[in-house]
Amino acid sequence: MLYPNVLQARRQLQSGWRWPHFSVAELACRCGGRFCGGRYWHDPVFLDGLETMRAHIGGPLVLNSGHRCPGWNAAVGGAPLSQHKEVAADIQIGQHDRHRLLDGAIDAGFTGLGLARNFLHVDRRARPARWYYPGSEKLWTL
Ligand SMILES: [Zn+2]
Repeated sequence: MLYPNVLQARRQLQSGWRWPHFSVAELACRCGGRFCGGRYWHDPVFLDGLETMRAHIGGPLVLNSGHRCPGWNAAVGGAPLSQHKEVAADIQIGQHDRHRLLDGAIDAGFTGLGLARNFLHVDRRARPARWYYPGSEKLWTL
């Protein structure tokens, strides 16, 4: 479900919020008001997946990107049909073992898996897909 901005999403979701390690602000559009007021796409199953993944890893997940409004998606070079226009997350690899992170994503039921040098893209889609971002192939052994 789409909320037009972070404040409205927080107001309407705070009483039932059950994902202690993730926030509306982290997953809202980050265009900073250039194209939207911080749109947020709420998907409880997606959030459950992030919590499952975090539990699998046993440490914090830092999200580089969550929902993107159409303007922001285009501005950052996202695919026109990017799942970020609904809900997806680009998770920083940082100090994590990238393969443990990937195992966690699979364990959590994510079916769209984008493998990059510095992040792992996760989303949920009917037809599973896995892809590399340019230059990352050698870092991932599948
Ligand atoms: Zn935006």
